Amino acid sequence: EHARENHQPFAFFHKSMNTRPNEAMRIEADLRKSIDQEELLLYYQPKLNIQTGDLVGVEALVRWNHPSGRMISPGEFIPIAERTGLILLIGEWVIEQACIQMRKWTEEGIYVPSVSVNLSVSQLFQHNLIEKMEQFLKENALEPNRLELEITETMAMDKGSVQQILTRIKKLGVSISIDDFGTGYSSLNQLRDLPIDIVKVDGSFVSDITTNEKANALLSSVIRMTKLLKLKVVVEGVETQEQLNKLYENECEVVQGFVISKPISAEEIVAQKEQLKCKIKRLNVT
Ligand code: C2E
Ligand code: MG
Ligand code: MG
Ligand code: MG
Repeated sequence: EHARENHQPFAFFHKSMNTRPNEAMRIEADLRKSIDQEELLLYYQPKLNIQTGDLVGVEALVRWNHPSGRMISPGEFIPIAERTGLILLIGEWVIEQACIQMRKWTEEGIYVPSVSVNLSVSQLFQHNLIEKMEQFLKENALEPNRLELEITETMAMDKGSVQQILTRIKKLGVSISIDDFGTGYSSLNQLRDLPIDIVKVDGSFVSDITTNEKANALLSSVIRMTKLLKLKVVVEGVETQEQLNKLYENECEVVQGFVISKPISAEEIVAQKEQLKCKIKRLNVT
């Protein structure tokens, strides 16, 4: 995955944490400085309606341009940020940057309907999360429904308190999606009980749909179920043209994955916007 995104793997990270505590501490210290040093950046991955070709939104994905010259993926530094509490600062930076970028795109004459950001569990319990979101939306003149929060189903498990927070977020008008749906420890009742808007079906449900009839039936059923529940659905991790064709036949609407685009810079989103639509036009005639 990282190789396909042209990111250098940062292999000594994990090993160093057990065997070389100094190294781990240095990385923590580096991460602490990363915001002020402007080393963090957001990439954006398009979500496309494959029935119409419309760009429905983008997902903001954070990267760390480490002073060593390595681009470090979130899978490697988000766990450290979570352990050290730095995730609150980083997470807030991500939400603000995503809002600023939405305003910049508008100023450049590009309409990106929505941006989603990934949330860590401790952010949900951050006392000023809602105030901050309100502030960033207001400062950038964004309707709240242009912002979407992605939480995992495991985060949503802790029913009582999480449900309350999610309800307050929804009241603000910000959308909520369940990320990596189907991979965590969850129950289908969550889809009924939680105040969510969108289900992002994990890529593992897609990988076999062209070769395994049961896999295809399962994914089609999930898509139909979400429609009946009046939830929107995004199918993630779509990698091949064959999968895309199958999803098109199954009346799937919104798709995200390498076959459409890997995560790209804000500038590339501008440059790619029209080409994305063409990609889908080609799909529909095949
Ligand atoms: P995620 O939210 O499920 O994001 C999707 C990940 O899958 C991204 O990896 C993306 O590059 C990758 N991906 C997209 N399309 C495909 C595909 O077709 N095939 C495959 N194999 N992979 C695909 P990335 O950017 O490395 O992010 C990994 C995870 O890190 C994210 O998973 C998310 O959980 C977390 N993350 C990213 N940014 C943030 C952030 O700002 N805050 C927090 N808390 N977590 C973040
Ligand atoms: Mg996500
Ligand atoms: Mg996901
Ligand atoms: Mg994922």
